[in-house]
Amino acid sequence: MGYNDLPTSILQSEALTKYILETSVYPREHEQLKEIREATVEKYGSVSIMSLAPDEAQFLSMLLKVMNAKKTLEIGVFTGYSLLTTALALPEHAKITAIDINKEAFEVGLPFIRKAGMEYKINFIESDAMSVIKEMLSNGEEGFDFVFVDADKENYIKYHEILIQLVKVGGIIAYDNTLWFGSVAFAEGDEMSEVLRTHRESMLKLNSHLVSDPRIELSHLSIGDGLTLCRRLY
Ligand code: SAM
Ligand code: CA
Repeated sequence: MGYNDLPTSILQSEALTKYILETSVYPREHEQLKEIREATVEKYGSVSIMSLAPDEAQFLSMLLKVMNAKKTLEIGVFTGYSLLTTALALPEHAKITAIDINKEAFEVGLPFIRKAGMEYKINFIESDAMSVIKEMLSNGEEGFDFVFVDADKENYIKYHEILIQLVKVGGIIAYDNTLWFGSVAFAEGDEMSEVLRTHRESMLKLNSHLVSDPRIELSHLSIGDGLTLCRRLY
């Protein structure tokens, strides 16, 4: 078989994703992350697809440890899979500010966050994220080691302009879903659902915006539904 015959992306193979999860991820998944994952499926059914992919969580966990992150920000909590992943990866006395416009789903995951002994690291704010981060900026708050953005896709570019000032030089802003179920590679005339088309537009604009931003180093990963890491350079 020549290289031309190889699949271009792991996302094209459900079986391979299953293999990665079953071989390398689920056997090492923290008990309370598993419990959040199961409670999310039970409560939200197919909407549970919103949760962070467990293999992506495993990657972020290692990244946070390698970076020695101590102060992080999360926009878009849902039931807390990414939040508990972060809390477990950060050292004692680390601080996570987590924002979601609605705390109902967070409350589904909170008992498991408590059971894991991680609640003390988290400051959860129920609000529209834009107003919170604007206030942080005007209060002179800065120095975040890591920011995870997984919320209203249409606002990612506006978030970026503020987050680039809140994250420290050398810190990372991570944008989730930047491949939007592969739709970024669809042709304009292809048939697709309204949700797919709307957020596809947002992601196409974001990806073009980020690649032309000289303030960041970029890494666009085909993990989960696409994850773009932006390291602040100056
Ligand atoms: N990171 C989460 C996880 O691992 O389970 C998934 C987050 S889910 C994809 C998106 C979340 O963003 C939802 O819980 C939604 O309430 C929240 N959200 C949407 N618009 C928002 C806004 N303007 N400000 C803050 N949160 C928002
Ligand atoms: Ca996501």
